[in-house]
Amino acid sequence: MTDRGDHHVDRALLLTFDDRHVREWAAAAPLFTLYDARVTFFVCEPDRLDRDDLRLLRRLADDGHTIGCHGLRHERAPEFIAAHGAGAYLDREVVPAQESLRRLGFPARSFAYPCSARDESTDRLLLALFERLRGGVSADRRADPSLAAELHVPAADIPARRVLLGCSVDSGRGTVAYGDDLTGVETALRRTADDGGVTTLYAHSVADAHEANHVTPARLEKLLALADGMSLPCVGFDELP
Ligand SMILES: [Zn+2]
Repeated sequence: MTDRGDHHVDRALLLTFDDRHVREWAAAAPLFTLYDARVTFFVCEPDRLDRDDLRLLRRLADDGHTIGCHGLRHERAPEFIAAHGAGAYLDREVVPAQESLRRLGFPARSFAYPCSARDESTDRLLLALFERLRGGVSADRRADPSLAAELHVPAADIPARRVLLGCSVDSGRGTVAYGDDLTGVETALRRTADDGGVTTLYAHSVADAHEANHVTPARLEKLLALADGMSLPCVGFDELP
């Protein structure tokens, strides 16, 4: 819907994927291409990416997707800081992850909080290192239409809004299914398409079944088709003004 390199994004779906499911993300790449969608992959444990992961992640970046940082060992920021201090958090968890990604050729300009655990002091700390941060709203509200007010960021607020809260669209984890009602998410997308602005969503792996949190390819396609039907472009974090 929008040209790559269009720096005048005034409305968008920001679809994001967390952790280190590079093979599954790469397998979903044709789906993103089909809908002209760019997304953001927030990678943790970058030092544990193997040669195949790196090749596939490089291809995703070359396709125009954004690669962001998700920590070195997926530590929860407020808890780690309470236990070890802010300096240790940066030195042991954040800077090594950012440096590792940079060395691998993925300079990350954005960071997603593991488990969406954050507060205002972690935001201040991390905004010295990243342009934007992604947190989350409670996933159990995703069926609630009033969620749209929380998820949707008006267009005029985008440049200054450096912390974006997303909602989970995962289908389930292991044998646990999270339910199919995404009314709140769909309402937020409709508002974004109508009024401009952005809505942020997150998932983890992309698979029909996975021990970790995952969105099924069918649900992913449904979301991409929904946004496409509303002429709402799907862009990566690095494309935001
Ligand atoms: Zn995570």
